[in-house]
Amino acid sequence: MKYQEIISISYCGNAPEKLAKAEEMLQEFGQNLLAESKIVAAVEELRERVVSLDTHMAAMDMGKNCSACAATPLGGCCSAYMGHENNDVLQLLMNMLAGIKVKLVRSDDLECCFLEETGCLLLFKPIFCLNYLCERIRQHSGEQDLKLLEERTASLLGGQVELEGLIISRLQK
Ligand code: SF4
Ligand code: SF4
Repeated sequence: MKYQEIISISYCGNAPEKLAKAEEMLQEFGQNLLAESKIVAAVEELRERVVSLDTHMAAMDMGKNCSACAATPLGGCCSAYMGHENNDVLQLLMNMLAGIKVKLVRSDDLECCFLEETGCLLLFKPIFCLNYLCERIRQHSGEQDLKLLEERTASLLGGQVELEGLIISRLQK
């Protein structure tokens, strides 16, 4: 595949269309991608970074703030718009390569289609979702906690970008 083709496919359409394209790519290229040791190693490294970030988020009790926020009439930040616009085909494919069964869990046009009762089903989340640090979380967290949160988020995001690069170069072969 050509670079331009990969990029235009990746960012085109709504969440169901992107998911269908990611499934197609998994079918066509999944085996080759998983035969690449660098890709497998990057996925495993990223899995550890996700655990490291999740552990810190749990220690900060972020879930409590988000649950309270989600219970308000306006709801939390995982809106339907986010699910359609922030996800892309390569990032959904990365989740599939990590063994996540990516599926649409709602279609109410209110909340993100990847938001399960227990939270986001994606292991590797879109950049905007990972980077978003709302006022409520800022107000309820200490400086050191926020610093560590930003460090671990940056490390995960950096790794996701690297993995995306590895996938793109493999797809171009
Ligand atoms: S991250 Fe902030 S805006 Fe989003 S659900 Fe949690 S508290 Fe609410
Ligand atoms: S964090 Fe997950 S559930 Fe929330 S908007 Fe992003 S993709 Fe959707």
